[in-house]
Amino acid sequence: MIPTTELEQPGHASLRRLTAAMPKAELHLHLDGSLRVETALMLARSRRVDAPATYEGMFRALVGPARMASQAELLTRFDLPIALLQDAESLEQVTAELVESKAADNVRYLEIRWGPALHVRRGLSVDAGIAAVCRGAREAAVRTGSIVRLTCTALRSHAPAEALELAETAARFRDQGLTGWDLAGPEAAVPDPLAFRRAFAAARAGGLRITLHAGEWGGAAQVRRALALDPERIAHGPGAADDPRLMAEITLRGVTLDLCLTSNVQAGIVASVVDHPLARLHRAGVPVSLSTDDSTVSDVLLSEEYVRAVEENGLTLPELWAIDRHALDAAFAEPEVINLLRESFERWAAVVPELGGSR
Ligand SMILES: [Zn+2]
Repeated sequence: MIPTTELEQPGHASLRRLTAAMPKAELHLHLDGSLRVETALMLARSRRVDAPATYEGMFRALVGPARMASQAELLTRFDLPIALLQDAESLEQVTAELVESKAADNVRYLEIRWGPALHVRRGLSVDAGIAAVCRGAREAAVRTGSIVRLTCTALRSHAPAEALELAETAARFRDQGLTGWDLAGPEAAVPDPLAFRRAFAAARAGGLRITLHAGEWGGAAQVRRALALDPERIAHGPGAADDPRLMAEITLRGVTLDLCLTSNVQAGIVASVVDHPLARLHRAGVPVSLSTDDSTVSDVLLSEEYVRAVEENGLTLPELWAIDRHALDAAFAEPEVINLLRESFERWAAVVPELGGSR
């Protein structure tokens, strides 16, 4: 008799190969949560930031435990990376490196988000910080052939007037690839995003497309609050699955939930990847995409997240592929760019038998 492990291993290995080769689109990815450990060590040394000096120590400082008590605890993992990213050179470098890391995992379209107001402690202006991230993204996109768009994140913990000013500044970078506007930060402390409605209005008026974080605390009620800002997408929001009327409303309005399996387990809002409502939401017709949230804090590649979606959450491969392609439909990029990407994704699938293609 063949041991069970030998029967299961090839399945896992071939799935791993398939999701690695699959052209992917990632919509929910934070710059400060995705720093390379080696780069963090270099920045800590050169910027004289008090931080672990060994690879092991830095890894433990940057990567979050598999499970934490709350979103508030998860957010403490960003203190060190933010302390390391307080000048234009570091922001440009880590942005470029993130695009390159993602390209190596065949993420062909990615949106990177970050809070420019968090990187001004050493005198950098918001303008110069945004320009640096735009530069890093643009240069790495040319080198890798990836398509990159950027999203400016305002913080719930900052004053609404500051967010308004940030929105007006961000909108001036629209022709440099900054196409999205987001709100993130501690939901329990600042539950109502409507306090930032003027910033959202300014971002919209400036041509930015709207998303915001919701439901890393507070479940379905927080997702409903986010809908009041009329977003195209919501970052997270798995709690919507507990409220059939809310699911119906999200579906009717065509709002996409940018879900993250590993990160949601870390933040303690789902018990495990098995229990995550990703597959249930998708099968109910709710538009969803799948992202890592933070490639370093969650220590996960998008291709690995895709494997977990199949093996632990129960998606079929065609369902996973549909979710991957939906991310292009929901992307904050110009239709002509997306059409070209969609064609290249379809060309790949056309020769993959597992997705109905023929070699
Ligand atoms: Zn996020």
